[in-house]
Amino acid sequence: PFVVLEGLDGAGTTTQSAALAARLRAEGWEVSTSCEPSEGPIGTLIRQMLTGRVVVPGEDGARPVGRETLALLFAADRLDHIEAQIEPALRAGKVAISDRYYHSSLVYQGDIDGEERVDYGWVRELNSRARVPDVTIFLEAPVELCMSRLSGRGSRDLYETREKLARLERRYDEVLTMLSAEGQPIVRLDAGLEREEISEAIWTVVQSHLPG
Ligand code: C5P
Ligand code: MG
Repeated sequence: PFVVLEGLDGAGTTTQSAALAARLRAEGWEVSTSCEPSEGPIGTLIRQMLTGRVVVPGEDGARPVGRETLALLFAADRLDHIEAQIEPALRAGKVAISDRYYHSSLVYQGDIDGEERVDYGWVRELNSRARVPDVTIFLEAPVELCMSRLSGRGSRDLYETREKLARLERRYDEVLTMLSAEGQPIVRLDAGLEREEISEAIWTVVQSHLPG
C-alpha cells in the first residue's frame, strides 16, 4: 500500500514517517520512505529554490520563480518521485510512505504570498497523473504547536510565520474536505498528542490498509 503523511510545517510528518517505517519493519514489512520535494534531481532543485540558493550563470543572486512555475516544478518532481521510488517499491511488495504529496501542492503552491493563488483546478490537472494514495493521514496540529516546534528546530523558511501557518491550516481544511468528498481516503489525526500516542494512532490506521 501507498501511505501519505500530510500536515503543516511542524506537524510532525517527518518524525512520524520515520516512526511508522520503523514499526512496519519491526512487523516484518519492507518499507520505502520518501518525501517531497523529493531527493531526485527536480526535488533537489526545488529545495535549493525554496532556500534561495540556486545560482544561475550570468545572473546576480537568486531570482525567485513565479508561483505557477513552482507548481509545474512540484508536479514534475512528483511524477519523477512516483516513477523512481513509489511505483518500484509497490511492485516489490513494499509499503511506500511519502512525507507530503499532491495535497501539499494544492495547499502550498496556492499560498506563496497569501493573496493570489494558483488556480486550484489547474494544479489538480497538473497532478491528475499522480497515483492516488491508499490512505492519506493528515496530522492536525494547532498553529501554536507547529510554531513552537519550528522555533525549536531553528528553521525559518518562506512559510514559517504564524499568519502563513494559519492560512495554510485553513487551506488544508478546504482541500482535504474537497478531496474527501470525491472519495479519496483521508484520515485526520490529532497531532497535538504525545509523539507515541500519535504513532499509535497512525499505526492503527495503516494496519487496516495492510493486506492479509
Ligand atoms: O520540512 P519539509 O521538508 O516538509 O519542508 C518542505 C517545504 O517545502 C515545506 O515547508 C513547504 O514550505 C514546501 N513545500 C511546498 N509545496 C509542496 C511541498 C512542500 O511549498 N508541494
Ligand atoms: Mg517535514
